[in-house]
Amino acid sequence: MLELHGIPVSPGVAIGPALVLNREGYRIPHCQVASADIEEETLRLRRAVDALSRGLEASRMETAAIAGDSTGDIFAAQLQMLHDPRLHAELQRRIRQENQSAAYAVSQVLHRYASDLRRLDNSLLAQRADDVVDIEQQLLEHLGAVTRRPLTELTEPVIVLTHNLTPSETANLDRRYVRGFCTEIGGPGGHMAIVAKGLELPAVVGIGDFLQSVGGAAMVIVDGDRGIVILDPDKETLRRYEEGRERRQNLAIRLAQLRDLPAVTIDGVAISLSANIEFPHEVAACLERGAMGIGLYRTEFLYLASNVEPSEQDHYEAYREVVEAMGGRPVVIRTLDLGADKMGSRPLTEPEPNPFLGLRSIRLSLKHPELFRPQLRALLRAAMHGDIRVMFPLITTLSELRQAKFLVNTIAEDLAEEGIPHRHDIPIGIMVEVPATVLMLDRFVKEVDFLSIGTNDLVQYTLAVDRSNECVADLYQSSDPAVLRLIRRCVEVAGEAGVPLGICGEMSSNPARSLLLLGLGVRSLSVPPNALPKLKKAIRSVTLEQCEEIAARALTMEAARDIDLYLLERLGKLAPELIVS
Ligand code: PEP
Ligand code: MG
Repeated sequence: MLELHGIPVSPGVAIGPALVLNREGYRIPHCQVASADIEEETLRLRRAVDALSRGLEASRMETAAIAGDSTGDIFAAQLQMLHDPRLHAELQRRIRQENQSAAYAVSQVLHRYASDLRRLDNSLLAQRADDVVDIEQQLLEHLGAVTRRPLTELTEPVIVLTHNLTPSETANLDRRYVRGFCTEIGGPGGHMAIVAKGLELPAVVGIGDFLQSVGGAAMVIVDGDRGIVILDPDKETLRRYEEGRERRQNLAIRLAQLRDLPAVTIDGVAISLSANIEFPHEVAACLERGAMGIGLYRTEFLYLASNVEPSEQDHYEAYREVVEAMGGRPVVIRTLDLGADKMGSRPLTEPEPNPFLGLRSIRLSLKHPELFRPQLRALLRAAMHGDIRVMFPLITTLSELRQAKFLVNTIAEDLAEEGIPHRHDIPIGIMVEVPATVLMLDRFVKEVDFLSIGTNDLVQYTLAVDRSNECVADLYQSSDPAVLRLIRRCVEVAGEAGVPLGICGEMSSNPARSLLLLGLGVRSLSVPPNALPKLKKAIRSVTLEQCEEIAARALTMEAARDIDLYLLERLGKLAPELIVS
C-alpha cells in the first residue's frame, strides 16, 4: 500500500482498478520481481511476444492484401525486430539476473534501441526507431502495463492515473467507466479541475512524480475530499473507505430531499442558487439538484470538446437546448473564454510566455471577430427561446466592455436587416475577475445589467498565483483577506448602484466559505451542480445574523488558513451533518 498526497480538486471518493495512461515521456515503473516469480515473469513475456507476433502477422497479411506486399512488409520488418535473438537475450538477462519486471525490461531495452537509432541521424533509421517504439508500446500493452486504447473505448470501470490531462481530455473522459483520476501536475483552480467537478469525478492533481511508483497497483482509492491517493490499499483501508462512501451516499439521499425547498436562511433571507455548466447535457443534473438557473455556462467547451470549429448553428442549438431545458429559468451564457490553459486544438495565438496574462478570453474574442460574431449571433437568436443573459469574461477595461457591447448592437442590427428573429435588448453582464475591474467597478456598474465575481481568476490575479500550477498551489487561497476585501467592495458598489451581483467561482461551492460570502452581503451563488445540495443545506441551517458575525470575524484575521479553519469550525457547529469525515 502506498499513500500519496496531492491537491483535492473534485470531491468524493472513487475506488477502482488503475489505468495508467501511456503518454509521451511516461516511464514504466522500476519494478522488481521476487526470485520465486521469475519463471512466471518470463512466461508472461513469452505470451506477450507470441500475442504480438500473431497480431503483426495478421496485420502483415491484411495490409498486403489491401495495399500490396511492399506495404505489408512494414509489419514483416517489425516481426523480424520482435524476434531478434539479441533482444531476447537481453530481456531474459534483465529478468533472470536483475529481477526486473518484464515491462520494465522491455521499456528500458527498446527505449535504448530507439534512441541509438535516432542518434545515427539517418531518416531511414529514424523510421526504424518509430517501429521499435511501436513494438515497445504494443508489448507493454500485451503485458498489461499501459493502454493505448483510446479512453472512449473503455469497457470496464477504471481510475485514470496520468501525468496531466488537458481540459478537453478531461471533458472527453467516458463518465460511464472513468470513476476518478489523479495527475502528476495541475493546480487547484485549473480547468481540468473545474471539468472534473462538472463531471462529478473525484480527482486529485499535482501529486508530483508518482507514476513510476504505481508498480503493480491493481486497485486505487482516490480521495477527492482530502487529496489522498492510495495505491494497492490494504483490506482495512479499503473497508474504511467503503464505509465512508456509504455514509456519503446516505448524506446525499438526505440532502436530495431538500431539492424542492427554497434556499432560504432560518430568518427568511432568500438566496439564489444556480449552477455552472460546461455542456448542455449537464442541465439534467442541475435540475435534479434544484438549480434555480444556470449562473455560468462556459461556452468555450463547445470548442474544446470537438476538433471541428463550431458554426453559428452549433452555438445556437447548444444554447437553445440549454435554455429550453431550463424551462423559463435564467441562463447566463458566458462568451468564449478561450486561451491560457483552455486553447484546445485551435491555435489562435502563438505560444505565449505568460498565457494567463496574454491573449485570452474577451481579448481573444475581440481580436478575432470571425470567432466572436457567430457566437453573438447565435446568442441573440437563441434568446428568443428563453431567459438568456450574456456575460463577458475577463473584462478589465471599460473600453473592452464598450467594444463588446458595440458588437452585440451591430449584430442585432444585422439580424434585423436579415429578418432573422432575435432579441435585441438582451441583458449584458460582466465577470469580475481582475482587481482592476473591482477598482473601477463604480464605472462598470453604469454600463452593465449584472455582475458575477469569478473568484477562480480573481484569486489568481490578486495573489499573483497561477491557478493551475501545483508548485504554488498552497498560495492559491480564495479565503485570503485581500480577496475578501475585494469581494466586500464589489458587494458595496453593486448594492449602491442597484446592480445584481453574484459569485460563480469555485469559492462559493464550499459550504463553509458560502457562509462567509452570505455574511459579506452576497445573495446569489452559482456552483457546480453536485455542490448544490450541500450548499442549500448550509444556507437553511443558519441565520443571516450568524453569517454576518462570521464575516465580521473573518475580516479581522490575517491569513487564509486561519480564516478557513475558523469557517470550518463554525460550519461544524451550525451544520454538523455537512462535515463528513
Ligand atoms: C472564474 O474565473 O472564477 C470563473 C468562473 O471562470 P473560469 O473558471 O472559467 O475562468
Ligand atoms: Mg475566469
